Amino acid sequence: MAYLNENYLKLQAGYLFPEVARRVRKFCEANPKAAERLIRCGIGDVTEPLPPAAVEAMKQAVEELGHHETFHGYGPEQGYEFLRSAIAQNDYRGRKIDIADDEIFISDGSKCDCGYILDILGDQNKVAVPDPVYPVYVDTNVMAGHSGSARQDASYEGIVYLPCTAENQFVPEPPKEHIDLVYLCFPNNPTGAAASREQLALWVEYAHAHEAILLFDAAYEAYISDPRIPHSIFEIPGARDCAVEFRSFSKNGGFTGVRCGFTVMPKSLFARTESGRRSLLHPLWYRRWSTKANGVSYPVQRGAEALYSSEGREQVRALIDHYMTNAKILRNAAADAGLTVFGGVNAPYIWVETSDGVTSWQMFDRMLSELNVVITPGAGFGAQGEGYFRISAFNSRDNAEEVARRLKKLYSLRYARRR
Ligand SMILES: *Cc1c(COP(=O)(O)O)cnc(C)c1O
Repeated sequence: MAYLNENYLKLQAGYLFPEVARRVRKFCEANPKAAERLIRCGIGDVTEPLPPAAVEAMKQAVEELGHHETFHGYGPEQGYEFLRSAIAQNDYRGRKIDIADDEIFISDGSKCDCGYILDILGDQNKVAVPDPVYPVYVDTNVMAGHSGSARQDASYEGIVYLPCTAENQFVPEPPKEHIDLVYLCFPNNPTGAAASREQLALWVEYAHAHEAILLFDAAYEAYISDPRIPHSIFEIPGARDCAVEFRSFSKNGGFTGVRCGFTVMPKSLFARTESGRRSLLHPLWYRRWSTKANGVSYPVQRGAEALYSSEGREQVRALIDHYMTNAKILRNAAADAGLTVFGGVNAPYIWVETSDGVTSWQMFDRMLSELNVVITPGAGFGAQGEGYFRISAFNSRDNAEEVARRLKKLYSLRYARRR
């Protein structure tokens, strides 16, 4: 009999969202009336339709594929030049960040890239993740054999967890100990926190001192409203020698179902061999794509390119404004309900304290049964998420306003319980 990859057996049963779905299903079966007014503010998926500029560009690209003269077969594995150059120019060079077209690698999304990147990194690396965490960073490392077994609290032996707490504004400080790879995600899912230039500079400094690599997930970069907050790790001097950046069209262009993202792999980033020889990572990443992929579909890349046109940009801006207005409504409503709120200013997530010693799953059940609103319990993102829950602003305006009205009721319910 053939052998399987036993690392997969170490994975905790995909606990969070299946458990949320189970509890919602059970509640809806028992309360069909309440089920009708259920509003989901749980999973971080966009709700609004695609920007028309992207739709048009994709239609036109499909049309091209239907004619001899304009047909395209396999494209470049790393992405078409038209898209790589639009990205490098608009997202980087236009903002005075030194990134070349061939440092951009187009992919089917940044969740995927977070997993793919481990192909070119050694198994000896000591890996650190924030806590609470986007589970992909952890699980891909477990699958690759970079961890020991799972502990009681669902964390893994061998992985370093960096606590993100109200005390550090949910931006972890570099640790005292040595780490080789650090995942950072700003603006953050789930906490909605954004990292300042100074906070990111400390990480770049740490990476230089420890010859570590920062894996910087900037999926929510477009949601930054504070002009002082960096949009890219490459805004920090020295980051070209110590960082990789992941970006996605999922949350700015609403491409969660279309699938397109990219990695910025600087040609100045080194890692070492077991014997101590320094070697560039860019050629390995290039080779990885050439060997294992045939790139992202032509219509999708044309759709992504259209997000950088002047209409495309305006439409993306309108989408972000829509979600961020929801965020403001929800954030204010939660605060008015007497809850302590974080995030929701530079990110579409609001991170709320449960207070009164209520656990995050208890809060989930209470929000479900009393308000018929689905939120995400913080504990599902890591031990430090206990005592918090996440409200997602990805919703229609009507739903956001209705959730805001219902949150008012939560206040009276809390008050009544205390007596
Ligand atoms: C949504 C999200 C992404 C984007 O994933 P895609 O695969 O590009 O859809 C990446 N990182 C985080 C933390 C996210 O929440």
